[in-house]
Amino acid sequence: MEVRISVPLKDFYNGAEHEFTLSKQHVCDECEGSGSADGKVQTCNECGGRGAVVRKHMLAPGIFQQVQMGCDKCGGKGNTIKTPCKVCGGSRVVRRDDTHTLTVEKGMPKGARVTYENEADESPDWVAGDLVVTIFEKEAELDMGIADEERVDGTFFRRKGRDTFWKEVLSLREAWMGDWSRNITHLDGHVVQLSRKRGEVIQPGMVEVVTGEGMPIWMGEHDHVEVGEFGNLLVEYTVVLPDQMESGASIHSVGQLNVSKTRIYAER
Ligand SMILES: [Zn+2]
Ligand SMILES: [Zn+2]
Repeated sequence: MEVRISVPLKDFYNGAEHEFTLSKQHVCDECEGSGSADGKVQTCNECGGRGAVVRKHMLAPGIFQQVQMGCDKCGGKGNTIKTPCKVCGGSRVVRRDDTHTLTVEKGMPKGARVTYENEADESPDWVAGDLVVTIFEKEAELDMGIADEERVDGTFFRRKGRDTFWKEVLSLREAWMGDWSRNITHLDGHVVQLSRKRGEVIQPGMVEVVTGEGMPIWMGEHDHVEVGEFGNLLVEYTVVLPDQMESGASIHSVGQLNVSKTRIYAER
């Protein structure tokens, strides 16, 4: 039995526990899986308890073929019930909700599978199989209406394996002149500061690697050692050009970035 559960990226970063409820088939407690109200089960008188009957067909005069078929009367079970159980109606099983806890470990990969042994559908006739939960990443929602102190910028982080990705927007002036800083709130609420000193230029599309600010490195299901190592944060810079700059004016005006828009117009 397999189910998919999607959790937000911050749960993969911080680790989390989620409860989930599944409907599954249980062996009926009332009749203990016999299907009978009084516990009495009678051997099927059609097949003698074998669940199958042998029929003879005459293929040609004097030549018979024996065919074994499932017993219709008992449905192949070999016994019949006189008074069916009121809870399961004689089917020996009932459907009921089960609640499980899903533990998302720090740094688990997308598509990680968690196995709950023998938690699949039950039956009096077989040993229950495993329930397997596959963990996916939920599409981030814009967390409107969340108090500022709880707010993390997780909505805008993207993950690729051990690394996280972030897009930062700079004005042309910042990219050109430097002297800026940004505070990014990471998935657990800690702040990563990006900055450049005056005179440090950022080229559009440049990717900065901030070591140790990626995803926690997961050691796998057989090794829970916490090493506290992280992947990297890759910051891609986008530079926004002012709307007013058009071809012809731009080359001349770039040098005048710190002047007001009116000045730029005046010079055209
Ligand atoms: Zn039978
Ligand atoms: Zn029952």
